[in-house]
Amino acid sequence: MFRDRAIEIKTPEQIALMREAGLVVAETLSLLSSAVKPGVTTGELDAIAERHIRSRGATPNFLGYHGFPATICASVNDEVVHGIPGDRVLQEGDLVSLDCGAIVQGWHGDAAITVAVGGSVSDELRELMRVCEESMWRGFAAARLGGRLTDISSAVESYVRSQGDYGVVEDYVGHGIGSAMHMPPSVPNHGRPGKGPKLVRGMALAVEPMITLGTIETEVLDDDWTVVTSDGSWSAHFEHSFTLTPEGALILTALDGGAAKLTELGVPCALA
Ligand code: MG
Ligand code: MG
Repeated sequence: MFRDRAIEIKTPEQIALMREAGLVVAETLSLLSSAVKPGVTTGELDAIAERHIRSRGATPNFLGYHGFPATICASVNDEVVHGIPGDRVLQEGDLVSLDCGAIVQGWHGDAAITVAVGGSVSDELRELMRVCEESMWRGFAAARLGGRLTDISSAVESYVRSQGDYGVVEDYVGHGIGSAMHMPPSVPNHGRPGKGPKLVRGMALAVEPMITLGTIETEVLDDDWTVVTSDGSWSAHFEHSFTLTPEGALILTALDGGAAKLTELGVPCALA
């Protein structure tokens, strides 16, 4: 997808600005997570996100991106990614993926969570969300300075496959991030380890598994944005932006830098 384009290597000062952007994204997703309840519209969530990002002196990076009309993507149930917020009222039992990004002094952050609406979401759907989020963390845990990019892809896919019969979406992937939201390299959520670019200091990547209860086939709705599963199966999506330092991984869009979860997985975190 980004063939022949160089991977941007950031200075520590630039990574520090990406961390600021990442914290704005983390705060915003935390606010949104608390605001999700039956009866709330996805448009209301979008307004909360835009207000918070601007209150921190940051800029939403999705708004106007190739004409995207909102600050967040809100993708409900069988919608995988890129749902446009609006009048849709969240219902008890829905799943909503909230994807959000912010820019601080030209440097980008990008992250996503999937949230259950109300208390009656089924165990099967809660497990779908858990497996998706955990697979992302297994991807970070597999990333090492001097390792290869598809070490991440392989760890994500292997974890999902070990947990059941889920679809691992291939049409959409993670990406490099830095002075733009989407940069080389692509970060697939499947594949064999040991391939692709070497992971080096100053590289920043967004890892974002999308998994479904059914097919991996997707379609784009007539709004030209919303991606749905072609069999109507429900999906989950989680994302964080991260970088590797000599002290360990730094999850730029996690409030604690990933310290708690990476420690639990037995890998070093730059902030632990
Ligand atoms: Mg992304
Ligand atoms: Mg995103």
